[in-house]
Amino acid sequence: MFKLVCVILLGLTGLSGGLSGAALLPPEADRKLAYEIYKEMIESQSGFTTGETTSIAKAVAERLKSAGFPESDIWVGGAKDTKYNVVVRYHGTGARKPILLLAHIDVVEAKREDWSTDPFQLIEKDGYFYGRGTSDDKAQAAVWIANLIRYKREGFAPDRDLIVALTADEEGGGPYNGVDWLLKNKRDLIEAEYALNEGGRGESVDEKRVANDVGLAEKTYADIRFEVHNKGGHSSRPVADNAIYHLAGALYRLSSFSFPMQLNEVTRAYFGQLAKIEKGAFSADLALVGEGSQEAMNRIAAQSPGMNSMLRTTCVATQLEGGHAPNALPQLAAANINCRILPDDTVESVLATLKKVVADENVSVTIKVDEGKAPASPMRPDIMKAFSQVTDSMWPGVITLPSMSTGASDGRYLRAAGIPTYGIQGFFLDRNDVRAHGRDERMGVESFYEGQTFLYELVKILSTPQP
Ligand SMILES: [Zn+2]
Repeated sequence: MFKLVCVILLGLTGLSGGLSGAALLPPEADRKLAYEIYKEMIESQSGFTTGETTSIAKAVAERLKSAGFPESDIWVGGAKDTKYNVVVRYHGTGARKPILLLAHIDVVEAKREDWSTDPFQLIEKDGYFYGRGTSDDKAQAAVWIANLIRYKREGFAPDRDLIVALTADEEGGGPYNGVDWLLKNKRDLIEAEYALNEGGRGESVDEKRVANDVGLAEKTYADIRFEVHNKGGHSSRPVADNAIYHLAGALYRLSSFSFPMQLNEVTRAYFGQLAKIEKGAFSADLALVGEGSQEAMNRIAAQSPGMNSMLRTTCVATQLEGGHAPNALPQLAAANINCRILPDDTVESVLATLKKVVADENVSVTIKVDEGKAPASPMRPDIMKAFSQVTDSMWPGVITLPSMSTGASDGRYLRAAGIPTYGIQGFFLDRNDVRAHGRDERMGVESFYEGQTFLYELVKILSTPQP
């Protein structure tokens, strides 16, 4: 069903009337507005551990009030006073359930000495905006607000409410995560038929736009602990039964184990579509992967860690601890194993598999962190059609690429709560130069404004009755 819908929809082209040339960019006044909001957000220190999001939430609320949004449609608050969120509702006719437009306003920490520029200044240089959060996720946050103000100014009358929520603590989750908190405490504020969020982006190769991703699923995060206890003793009289050796054996066996490769509806569509923009043997292999060929999966997985991670659940050793003195036999040896689990797998089945791989009763294998499973979002024809229409009109030749993220976003809370969530941005980034969370994070200037147009047009279609 999924595949069928995908194939049919991806063949559609063109908006009625179409967008072209100058229409790729928003009117100058709207570009200026988006820039101002973006700059204000980037220059507000909202690092996950050292910063706060409240300043941004309050500044956005003030801006909305000056743009004529009634105070009763704006809500600011959250789990604690440094971790506020802002939610605003733009009223439609109410013919359909609202759409939630989500972005997070916290960022990964960034140190001045690690960067070429000050990460908390928005610097425009060589056709890029530099700064922490320029791609993850303040571009989308700024654009949602700028577009909402534009709809209001233009008198746009959607057939459903549009809700923008800018939230705290996506990076690292924890007790102050805005989406989790809103679902538990203020669900009526964000209740929607579905949500649009980060988790899908445009992909460029050598400055050429090739694919616009729509994120439909995410892998699940889990940490598993291998732990060995031993009575220990004096290291001058060693015995074979050694905690470190037991652990080392388990890790060695893990290092040569791989979970079986499998496709789901999203990755099947992903590889099939990707084959269309790649070349030669690689393209032929991608097409074969889309058809389920194990040999082609082996070749593709061997070439690319990224594609390997889309084809299977992965578990890898990330941290070690053990021993208490240089001259004592170890009483403890332990390792953290980080797993990224396919939506069709469960943490329980992964645990059972790892116990078999470890094959040593001295090594206990337990779940330490299980971030919970969220179902993939259905490939709704209305969203896929609108997404392809706007993509085809703005960037002819760019494919619509259904994707599964191997990382996790706030979308998992919404999906688990029954609000399907779609990773949709329309900002294009170099596929081979992803800087989110790293140094010198950046966003192409043109890409930022084109994304503003993309999201403006897309949300407009999704909130207007279609023939
Ligand atoms: Zn993010």
